Amino acid sequence: MEYELVVGLEVHCQLNTKTKAFCGCSTEFGAPANTNVCPVCLAMPGALPVLNKQVLESAIKLGLTTHCTIAPYSIMARKNYFYPDLPKGYQISQYEEPICSEGYIEFDLDGEKKRVRLVRIHMEEDAGKSIHDIGEETYIDANRCGVPLLEIVSYPDIRSTKEASAYLQKLRAIVRWLGISDGNMEEGSLRCDANVSVRPKGSEKFGTRTEIKNMNSFKSVENAIQYEMERQIEVLKSGGTIVQETRLWDADKFETRPMRSKEAAHDYRYFPEPDLVPIEVSDELLSLIKAELPEMPEVRATRFVSQYQIPEYDAKVITTDRLLADYYEEAAKVCGDPKATSNWIMGEVLRTLKEKAIEISAFPIEAKRLGVLISLVKQGVINGNTAKEVVFVKMLDEPTSPQDIVKRDGLAQVSDTSAIEKEIAEVLSASPTQLADYRSGKTKLFGYFVGETMKRMKGKANPQIINDILKRKLESV
Ligand code: ADP
Ligand code: MG
Ligand code: ZN
Repeated sequence: MEYELVVGLEVHCQLNTKTKAFCGCSTEFGAPANTNVCPVCLAMPGALPVLNKQVLESAIKLGLTTHCTIAPYSIMARKNYFYPDLPKGYQISQYEEPICSEGYIEFDLDGEKKRVRLVRIHMEEDAGKSIHDIGEETYIDANRCGVPLLEIVSYPDIRSTKEASAYLQKLRAIVRWLGISDGNMEEGSLRCDANVSVRPKGSEKFGTRTEIKNMNSFKSVENAIQYEMERQIEVLKSGGTIVQETRLWDADKFETRPMRSKEAAHDYRYFPEPDLVPIEVSDELLSLIKAELPEMPEVRATRFVSQYQIPEYDAKVITTDRLLADYYEEAAKVCGDPKATSNWIMGEVLRTLKEKAIEISAFPIEAKRLGVLISLVKQGVINGNTAKEVVFVKMLDEPTSPQDIVKRDGLAQVSDTSAIEKEIAEVLSASPTQLADYRSGKTKLFGYFVGETMKRMKGKANPQIINDILKRKLESV
């Protein structure tokens, strides 16, 4: 029998607010343990929480962008459970009336559009951290208690591991684009639990699912789901049944293993949080937030194609990141050549970001300076190779303007035809064999002559002029 994979994802996204969800404590990462705390997030008797407005606004922004219905009235709930790093003994979350519901996320996969529906997006707080790797004891750091999260729950619409990871990447791109989270999976700003089941192909009924936790990269999400799917198929094929349970992904052993039997909602004794007022979202607030939403990637890419006449492919690559798109527009404005700019971004800039493992916000060459560099090539002040291999590389290491680097290091392009002609004559007389080969039909050697001339001119010659003169000389005799 053939089986089909069915996956629903629950994603926790840490918001990038300055302060926590229900108190004024800083959310700064890496502060000394137990310093970003107060009576509210340490659960002192009588301390009262107040909802951070930015948390609500972030939830609404994500909800609007993912086509959800925004509840005009919603409430926070208590989810009760004991954990050493949860001082209150409960987590403030949302249950029956979440802020956003019934939306969807759409993404491209292998040239096809795929839509995954969302059950809900709700607001909640994070727990603290138990630290087990210092000596014999376990330590508690409460700095993370009360840090705001959004939980995004999908319908079981995902049918392959590739779809799961494409969905996650799209979600990550959206929260980053909205500027509500850094979406960093490795650092835990984006945490994903995968609900996995299989069913006979063609069957309508869902199989029993397991929930997998502890995956901290796109790759591990794919690997864990793949492993779990194969495990379940194996169990079913040998006549067994799947037990609904929570399993842990072990990236080192490359397997999932049981963690605990699945808890049901009633285990948590959810009830309305009595310390917080209900949340009312007025039409006014909603339209204010709508007005603040940035132009989204698809819309911006379409605009780039029509406004700058760049290929759709370029526009798509550049709009994968909002800051990258901003960078592109600024550089293109400075040099007035949008296509050259997109070539530079997709080539030198993205390659350098990858090599240095940094983001565009940390890129040492500001958009303006890159724009000026591109215009130097356009004006013929330097040739393209010098720009890429010499000036660009120096600009990465120093804040100097490209004009100053060209002047200081004598990199200006030589367009003096007599000087170029003289070098070409010397190249030709120094290469009699190649010349004979060329004339007997090995026209590929043209590049060799260009290269030799360029070498003699220390890479600074105008390549177009070399081409023109060479062609004339080679054809003349
Ligand atoms: P809980 O709150 O107990 O985790 P939910 O009903 O809220 O349960 O579902 C959680 C997630 O499990 C959702 O993302 C949903 O899409 C997914 N899910 C539900 N049933 C299945 C199934 N049979 N196979 C795979 N995923 C499922
Ligand atoms: Mg769950
Ligand atoms: Zn606090």
